[in-house]
Amino acid sequence: MENFEVVVVGGGLGGLACGVMLSKEGMKVCVLEQHSQIGGCLQSFYRRGKILDTGMHYVGSLHPGQILHQYFKYFGVIDRLRLQQLDPEAYDILVFPDGSRYCYANGEERFAARLVEYFPEEKAGIEKYCGLLRKVGSLISPEVLRSGHISNGGLEYMNVSAFDVINSCTQNETLRNVLAGTVSLHSGDRERTSFYEHGMIMYSYMESAYRFKDGSQHVADALAEEIRKYGGEVRVNAEVKGIEIRNSVARSIRINEDETVSAKYVISDIHPAKMLDLLEGEKVIRPAYGTHIRSLPNSYGCFTTHVLMKPGKARYANSNYYFHNRRDVWSARGEYKGCNLPVVLLSMQPPRTGDYADAVSLLSPMFRQVLEEWADTEIGKRGERYEAMKKRYAEAMVDCVSRVFPDMETQIETVYTSTPLTYRDYTSTLHGSAYGIIKDCRNALLSRIPVRMKIENLYFTGQNMNVHGCLGVCASAAVTCSALLGEEYLVKKIGNA
Ligand SMILES: Cc1cc2nc3c(=O)[nH]c(=O)nc-3n(C[C@H](O)[C@H](O)[C@H](O)COP(=O)(O)OP(=O)(O)OC[C@H]3O[C@@H](n4cnc5c(N)ncnc54)[C@H](O)[C@@H]3O)c2cc1C
Repeated sequence: MENFEVVVVGGGLGGLACGVMLSKEGMKVCVLEQHSQIGGCLQSFYRRGKILDTGMHYVGSLHPGQILHQYFKYFGVIDRLRLQQLDPEAYDILVFPDGSRYCYANGEERFAARLVEYFPEEKAGIEKYCGLLRKVGSLISPEVLRSGHISNGGLEYMNVSAFDVINSCTQNETLRNVLAGTVSLHSGDRERTSFYEHGMIMYSYMESAYRFKDGSQHVADALAEEIRKYGGEVRVNAEVKGIEIRNSVARSIRINEDETVSAKYVISDIHPAKMLDLLEGEKVIRPAYGTHIRSLPNSYGCFTTHVLMKPGKARYANSNYYFHNRRDVWSARGEYKGCNLPVVLLSMQPPRTGDYADAVSLLSPMFRQVLEEWADTEIGKRGERYEAMKKRYAEAMVDCVSRVFPDMETQIETVYTSTPLTYRDYTSTLHGSAYGIIKDCRNALLSRIPVRMKIENLYFTGQNMNVHGCLGVCASAAVTCSALLGEEYLVKKIGNA
């Protein structure tokens, strides 16, 4: 039986980031990924020679000196990232049902100034909101890392809802909806989403916003290259089927049908409920704890329409568009042409050459209830009604974005679609949830997964632990690795990279 110092279950961003940090520190690491391709939500795929992304459409804080840049610099991959900076004057454009449009600009001053142009009477409220974003964003700045901490606290922002904080900044209903204009695609929920989560995501994009060129898969591949450079292994087609527990320690990890490895430490980058299902042998975890983890609600999934464009027809748009079908951006319901589409995000794949886009992604939240009748089916075997439902949603989405892109329908070469069930079957996220366990500000501590539970050498990482997304998952990986290496030791290295 091969023996590693660390085995990481799951080769998504969280697992790969842990793999890089620990192998750089000289540990013998093995990352196990069930699929033939690493990356989890970073995976890209090809259709008709065009590259399409699954779960990473844009990221923030990637300018030198900003927090995500610092993480990727420490990981040793920053120079290999192929990046397209979004329009700094309008990285996000919100489009409301009455046709009104609002742009978010990069940099706190420009962000505020643009909003003040739309709402001149609301300068004080806009500045208050930006100041609060700054406070949350600066909780995890590179300076904080250099001081030896991953985060400077922030519990007071985890315990209040983004909805209430935004409303406390202004009485103006339109401005309230503009400030919260992207929440509905970032798992925003009126009652549960904390200002911490909202602020972390908003501040990061406000600092700078980038798309990955040539597909986000290259980020996962670069991280895997680093792991291998330091002597670690990244294995695909290696599904973990069981973990044997003895004397409160994870002793051996069963892979596929016939292989077993052992490790001093095991890190789980998969959903905690799925990890509990893998535990075998001694019953260390109390049934009540298992019931609690399994009962935590998960975010909705996403319906994605990948639109391949005819060559040279659709001019590349260097901004994201959020098309709202309800004025109230917090609403989870938004009937559009017989489909529930409260909001549709349009994000174009940066062209490899020239000014025309090859591919456009349209995304909308999709709830489990819509898919109940196909819950027990597999990819490719869900039947005609499922295909018809997907076609209906794809057509409604294209129609919805024609408010700004009236020629899109005639520029389409073909479309591919995926539902939360596709994500469930590819990345094993629970029910195809896009962002994992919902962190509930009404009970911030109970809805957060601690880095360790009762099994001494088993650690958690990934989007279920803290804020989801590229930045949240990198920060969680640092928390996980700090538990093995010591926080001050590790994060000073990250901060000073
Ligand atoms: C549609 C969509 C759009 C998104 N857009 C953005 C965006 O624009 N910007 C952003 O920052 N974030 C975005 N996100 C969120 C972001 O992609 C995730 O938060 C992040 O990638 C999660 O990483 P992870 O490592 O926690 O999990 P995952 O990416 O889910 O990785 C888990 C891995 O574990 C593997 N696995 C599961 N079970 C086993 C097993 N038994 N054995 C071995 N391997 C196993 C899976 O195959 C998977 O590769 C988006 C997510 C979705 C779904």
